[in-house]
Amino acid sequence: MTYRPADFATPETVFKAFEGVNLIGGARRATQATLAVTNPATGAEIGRAAASDGAETAQAVATARAAQRDWAATPARARGKQVGAAARAVTAQAELIAQVLARETGKAIRTECRGEVAVAADILEFYAGLGSELKGQTIPFDPRMLTMTTREPLGVVAAILPWNVPLVLFALKVGPALVAGNSVVVKASEEAPFATFLLAELMSRHLPAGVLNVVNGTGADCGDALTRDPGVAKITFTGSEAVGETINRIGAERIIPVSLELGGKSPMIVCADADLDRAVAGAVSGMRFTRQGQSCTAASRIFVHDDLIDAFTERLGAALDALRIGDPLDEATDVGTIINARQRATIDRYVALAEATPGATVTRHGTLPDAAHLAPDLYMQPVLLRGLPDDHPCVMEEIFGPVAVLRGWSDRDEVIALANATHYGLAATVWTRSLSVALDSTSRLEAGYVQVNQNLTIQPNVSYGGFGRSGQGKEASLEAMVEHFTRSKTIVLNFD
Ligand code: NAD
Repeated sequence: MTYRPADFATPETVFKAFEGVNLIGGARRATQATLAVTNPATGAEIGRAAASDGAETAQAVATARAAQRDWAATPARARGKQVGAAARAVTAQAELIAQVLARETGKAIRTECRGEVAVAADILEFYAGLGSELKGQTIPFDPRMLTMTTREPLGVVAAILPWNVPLVLFALKVGPALVAGNSVVVKASEEAPFATFLLAELMSRHLPAGVLNVVNGTGADCGDALTRDPGVAKITFTGSEAVGETINRIGAERIIPVSLELGGKSPMIVCADADLDRAVAGAVSGMRFTRQGQSCTAASRIFVHDDLIDAFTERLGAALDALRIGDPLDEATDVGTIINARQRATIDRYVALAEATPGATVTRHGTLPDAAHLAPDLYMQPVLLRGLPDDHPCVMEEIFGPVAVLRGWSDRDEVIALANATHYGLAATVWTRSLSVALDSTSRLEAGYVQVNQNLTIQPNVSYGGFGRSGQGKEASLEAMVEHFTRSKTIVLNFD
């Protein structure tokens, strides 16, 4: 199918254009089956996306394989320039992409979706300039020989996405994979596939046909077929721990590299000397309350020094009360919806467990919308939990919703031990005015991304990735591209 500008006039035309199709070899290819995509804000079906079977998924891998040889032979800087042009095409349609994303994820257009598109384009631009940084080494082996390493692409990269920030995660995988000379098959999230298809099609007009392909479908059919396809040379996955474990097992059997970005239960440690206002603002942004806490890096365990915990809790509650929960498309809305009923039920189960715990305090904040056109079930007030035992499921397990646990502390060794007590290790923050406390804490916290007095999200040039069961491998940064999207070849030249 060829592109017609009218296809992309409005979000509705985008849903129609990508109805029941994959993007393979630069063209939209129909699949036999489709699945419904729902707007969580209204409960209405917005479109039907491809539900690819194994054969339809394999077609994308075969196409990507066929395109990869020429792409790998293209000079690296030239590849980067094409990715740069593709990034600018994304920026040119940023508002439309954000509108599509808001409708399929329920995330607020102003506080979440526009920023996500901008960050995705920024990440692609960042990688576009790094083609000539794919350097090897020379090795002093023997003066009569030239011994060196070169960095080669891996082949076809399978990039599997979740629904919570699909475009940023797309860019973190597709940007470095393409610039390094790989071709890519993206598996969109079946919960929120349309913004991914739109982004990819806008990009693919600036890339050789077949180097960027997108398939959609369920994890059990499309995702599983992709990970097992012998044409796939590397898997990069962001999603749940359980699926990550399965994919890692398949990668091990096939002996191919697997990068995993999985869950988190990130601690935030507020010391007695912290700037209280700054720390409270950091908790609101760090817990990603405007994304309904649906973030792997969410600062969901907040340890506040006993001297500050009452004041902190009060101010945090007041800040959350001020958030407007409502229609994601309304410019005045701060907080949209939970993604779907299954996720909502999971979150509710955790909150009910807390409510049933003796000594626990559960507070809800902000006002729920009552507009008639909105489906009520997926709007949720932020929840703060206090007084839970340290081994409570709400403390130890990822909830992936707007639920934060607060706990007081007075002994730094104890709080560091508590912070390290889950099997996750994605991110952590420390809030203090003392440099020695900051350095001591950052060195002892077991997390891949540790910040002091701030809680920023992923930055394009800052390496990001979890310890423990939060995952393996890194994303963002030059190192991530070189280490995870290329392989090293050793070459020895002897003309003696
Ligand atoms: P999920 O694991 O259910 O699904 C993620 C993707 O994997 C989807 O595209 C799905 O179709 C696919 N999939 C499912 N089963 C599969 C299988 N057997 N084989 C191959 N693919 C399969 O996760 P989700 O519910 O979409 O996202 C939420 C999860 O993602 C949370 O646990 C969250 O912590 C995690 N997450 C992690 C990060 C990070 O950077 N660490 C970022 C965002 C989200």
